[in-house]
Amino acid sequence: MKTINTVTGTATAEQLGTTLMHEHLMIGWAGWELDCAAPKFERKAALRNCVERLKEIKDLGVQTFVDPCPMDIGRDVNFMAEVASASGMRIICATGLYKEDLGTTSYFKQRTIDEIAEVYTLEITKGIGDTGIKAGVIKCATGKGQVTKYEEMCLRAAGRAHLRTGAPITTHTDDGTMGREQLDIFASEGVDLDHVIIGHSCGSADLGYHTAMLDRGCLIGFDRFGLDFLHPDKLRLAALIGLLGVGYASQIVLSHDTVACWLGRGLSMPPETAKLVQNWTPTHVLKNIVPALRNAGVGEDKIRTMMVENPRRFFN
Ligand SMILES: [Zn+2]
Repeated sequence: MKTINTVTGTATAEQLGTTLMHEHLMIGWAGWELDCAAPKFERKAALRNCVERLKEIKDLGVQTFVDPCPMDIGRDVNFMAEVASASGMRIICATGLYKEDLGTTSYFKQRTIDEIAEVYTLEITKGIGDTGIKAGVIKCATGKGQVTKYEEMCLRAAGRAHLRTGAPITTHTDDGTMGREQLDIFASEGVDLDHVIIGHSCGSADLGYHTAMLDRGCLIGFDRFGLDFLHPDKLRLAALIGLLGVGYASQIVLSHDTVACWLGRGLSMPPETAKLVQNWTPTHVLKNIVPALRNAGVGEDKIRTMMVENPRRFFN
């Protein structure tokens, strides 16, 4: 049986239970620490806030929380471990680098694919820095409408680190684009696509985009529920119900991509946009989306498949 790295030790796939596959405790864009005009980061208050949030979803039955924060946008695995211990939530963290336009690229651009793959591999097998905490999943990302040379290097490195360690791969995509290109890159590295989640696929309303990926055996993330200003939940749900109706339940995972705290100033949005993120909380899927699926006639077996069985198979 494979062991899965969590921030507080190892787990087996059978232990994962109901899993939110893509949420964040903390994000900080590179440079945040230089913004002396921003509110000071209050670690204790942030810890309390995160523990409260995780207790709330734990009460709804969530047992595992995957935080695929890449290494270069504020990842703090000690913070994650403290939150996991205090809340009783199992947390899985990631290795990997973010997309070019928002990542910290200058150093790794000058490395080779194999040098990057070695970093990812070490974070999974030896641990992150001197924390002793090991990554359980590999993150990679592309921007809208293109895969840059740098992003392709990081995707290939993710594929190679996956082959060396068995850790699965979860990705970021923008606006429901480039998922198929991500799969092409992984496939050319020899990655078995059933250990890949093409994240944020719910950002597209094009069922042809979804089925072209699903028919290659990967999983896709309907993992931005509540982010109505990017793409309305109504369209995410319509696509999800359609895909479930034609037999893809075993390849879809659900989540929200929420961020509990921001380093520096975080998101600023105009009031009309702010209205559109009222449901962007980690309880939304269980409180609102699952009931909406039931109303549409989706059976309990399919809901369980997406929330329990698919995460288990992905990590196994
Ligand atoms: Zn994310």
